[in-house]
Amino acid sequence: MNAHHEIDASQERSRVLIVDDIPDNIKSLNAILEDDYSISFATYWKKALEIAGRTLPDLILLDILMPDMDGYEICRRLKLDPATRDIPVVFITALDSEAEEEKGLSAGAADYITKPFHPAIVKLRVRNHLMLKLQRDRLAALTMTDGLTEIANRRRLDMHLDAEWRRCARARSPLSVIMVDIDRFKAFNDSYGHASGDECLKRVAQALEAVPSRPGDLVARSGGEEFVCLLPGTDAEGARLIAERLCAAVYELAIPHADASADGRVTVSAGVGTVEPTRDGTPEFLLKQADERLYEAKSAGRNRAVGP
Ligand code: GH3
Ligand code: MG
Ligand code: MG
Repeated sequence: MNAHHEIDASQERSRVLIVDDIPDNIKSLNAILEDDYSISFATYWKKALEIAGRTLPDLILLDILMPDMDGYEICRRLKLDPATRDIPVVFITALDSEAEEEKGLSAGAADYITKPFHPAIVKLRVRNHLMLKLQRDRLAALTMTDGLTEIANRRRLDMHLDAEWRRCARARSPLSVIMVDIDRFKAFNDSYGHASGDECLKRVAQALEAVPSRPGDLVARSGGEEFVCLLPGTDAEGARLIAERLCAAVYELAIPHADASADGRVTVSAGVGTVEPTRDGTPEFLLKQADERLYEAKSAGRNRAVGP
């Protein structure tokens, strides 16, 4: 899941997963909610955990009494998995004792509704939980977004690098990073002013972000006028190609720059690093590699990509 997914999700219908072993119960909840939300359902714990993990719904309505694994245990498992931890769970159950309700809320549920339920009240409670979820998602997306350029920020980069490092180690696939730095940007600020500098940063960021296109790819602003492109499952040769495209994309913006390194326009330099991550390793060497090659690109005249 990336920041964009979270932002886009706010414009789509919220998604609700209904889990109940009795199809008639699913039908009656579905009838209340289907006009407003996109509904999926599961009648068995395995399917419930599978759908929750794969589709990351915005809310889960969970029955308690079910064969093989009850709702409490399903809820506990959802709360243990970092991917599904933040999905609110609402128990809808015929168990109406206070002890059961306490058990449900202790398992991490956001709410507990007893059957027979009043449809209008279920509808409103669902709406409230979904509103809170949306607000949380928006805040989470904001903390991962660079305020000036609106692309991913350093925090998002670190989190993504950490997750992709582990994923690539499991899959035994390569992981590439490209470090990108705007050429002679201090001179740009000095000639055109800081506001123009900011505007330039925005346009460069948007141009860079449009280059890679695979699902795990990420372009982030790592600091001042520096960007990092993360390419999971991409080898050195592929990364080198993307690095050249990043340089070309900025060149093609043709932003005038009197003291430029090439053709009177804003350019960037890029350095590529590629490793095969291991479980015990850290991304330090990978980043160092990319940084050294970025330095080589600068020394060799800027407006270029240097790979292995
Ligand atoms: P090089 O080609 O070697 O990369 O030279 P450079 O001038 O780009 O590199 P240097 O690191 O010396 O200067 C970076 C400049 O980037 C410093 C500052 O003026 C500018 N800068 C960094 N962050 C921002 C920002 O958020 N907004 C603006 N407008 N400028 C920034
Ligand atoms: Mg710099
Ligand atoms: Mg620079």
